[in-house]
Amino acid sequence: MPRVYLSPSLQEYNLYVNGGTEEEITNLIADAMEPYLLASGIEFTRNRPEMSLGEAIAASNAGNYDLHFAIHSNAAPESLAGKLQGVDAYYFYNSLMGEKWRILSQKI
Ligand SMILES: [Zn+2]
Repeated sequence: MPRVYLSPSLQEYNLYVNGGTEEEITNLIADAMEPYLLASGIEFTRNRPEMSLGEAIAASNAGNYDLHFAIHSNAAPESLAGKLQGVDAYYFYNSLMGEKWRILSQKI
């Protein structure tokens, strides 16, 4: 059974122009993912907003996860405001699980 470490942003000071923080919004994304992961038989562990980035990395490295899924958002220059959409996926070169996740995430 695949095991995933869900790591929504811990960046509570990255403010969104229309309200909320990157931490709040990416935690909502992780909340929305949980039922799908459970229904798919994918085990997951999740960081907690009060964790430091170092603590989240250590927790992820301490487990035997097939995937560390960091959920973040990007900023855009004012000239591109509202024009950039979709998913950017980054993974280690030659990571089969990372490549599969990239393909899956771009279908969302
Ligand atoms: Zn971020």
